[in-house]
Amino acid sequence: MTKLFGSSGIRGIVNKDVDPLLATKVGMAVGSLHKSAVIGRDPRTSSEMLNHSLIAGLVATGCDVTDIGVVSTPTLAIAAGDYDCGVMITASHNPAQYGGIKLWNKDGCAFDTTQQNEIERRIAENDFALATWDELGSISSRDDAIESHIKKILESVPKCTLTVVVDCGNGAGSTITPYVLRRMGCTVITLNSQLDGHFPSRNPEPTKENLTMLSQTVVALGADIGIAHDGDADRMMAVERTGRFIPGDELLSHFAIDSNAESIAVPVDTSLLVNKAFGKKVYMTRVGDVYVAEKLKEVGAGFGGEPSGSWIFPQHSLCPDGIYAAAKLVEIVSRLGLSTPGASTVTGVLPPLPTMALQRGKIRLDGAKGNICKTPAQVMDAVGIAVESTEYVDITTIDGIRVDLKDGWFLIRPSGTEPVVRITAESEDVEVTQSIYNLAESVVLGAMK
Ligand code: MG
Repeated sequence: MTKLFGSSGIRGIVNKDVDPLLATKVGMAVGSLHKSAVIGRDPRTSSEMLNHSLIAGLVATGCDVTDIGVVSTPTLAIAAGDYDCGVMITASHNPAQYGGIKLWNKDGCAFDTTQQNEIERRIAENDFALATWDELGSISSRDDAIESHIKKILESVPKCTLTVVVDCGNGAGSTITPYVLRRMGCTVITLNSQLDGHFPSRNPEPTKENLTMLSQTVVALGADIGIAHDGDADRMMAVERTGRFIPGDELLSHFAIDSNAESIAVPVDTSLLVNKAFGKKVYMTRVGDVYVAEKLKEVGAGFGGEPSGSWIFPQHSLCPDGIYAAAKLVEIVSRLGLSTPGASTVTGVLPPLPTMALQRGKIRLDGAKGNICKTPAQVMDAVGIAVESTEYVDITTIDGIRVDLKDGWFLIRPSGTEPVVRITAESEDVEVTQSIYNLAESVVLGAMK
């Protein structure tokens, strides 16, 4: 059976991996299992095409469809509460040539592995509950989903008056974030906030390298903070008034501290900075926001996030909501007060964090000629045997193999998409981290033989 779902739904190059035929089949599979669905899309050039195909598949199986147009993913996930399920057409932070589909439950959680497997099985076996001519689903549209989302956010954040630059990267955040912040009382300056599926301004992934225009604009205009989203605005990253990009581990720590939660959930590759800053129970999950959301639901933790920019506030929604996160961050910074003595920067008003030295790298398993001696799975099996034969006692195998040592930790994880094994190492000291990284690297190189 072909594997369609990755850790963030179905995603691939348009009309190569993800085409109208596949979208129709996904629609028929979803419609065979659900009586009603709400559908939304990001502004990619392919999204409207896939939208029509999905709607056709849903209606063909008797599912009533409500189309809410171009919206952010969290807007769609919240709207899904009024239907049996939600369908979002987006390739998230991937470049413009990608398309994708992500499916949502009523509670704001993405379809879990069991649900994804059932969709894949139905597509593989052509097992669709096609309706007769007089039982086809209906098609309607709604234009109040964004306003409902805005109101839900504004109910839980107070007024504040910071000057904020918002860089939506021409993605779906353009439909909502500037308006939310303005209605909070902020002075909002928009950057790249007109919808454009070519993503002409920057790569949609909100990394430090992709946000130089935002950093420069914040400094040039003397703004208090800069906010950035990926293509569908489930992610949010920020730069402070000096133009410094705030790393995801720092943002995660600040949200965790401010949540007053008794416990939080983060993926297994998150910096120890978060554990030290939060100081209470931290649940570790597989890498991927869907696993963080599932853990939050399972244990009732108060906050969850991924350093890549996905922040989940379960009292608001189990879907990572970059717009709500932007409003929260602006509110926190405003509440703590940029006028605090000595607080000349955003991170100056937020609680001081411990310093950690984290190193990430990867080892390619294909040689110069592209020969792959072992697959990532085979290498990981050998890594597992090697690690178990050592004196290491604190080994975690939630996702890859993580070894916690007395002065730091390392994680060895296979890539799901390329012949690569990733290594993360961390301690409080740069040299110690380097030696831990070297140790992990030697384990992987030994496992490749
Ligand atoms: Mg996204």
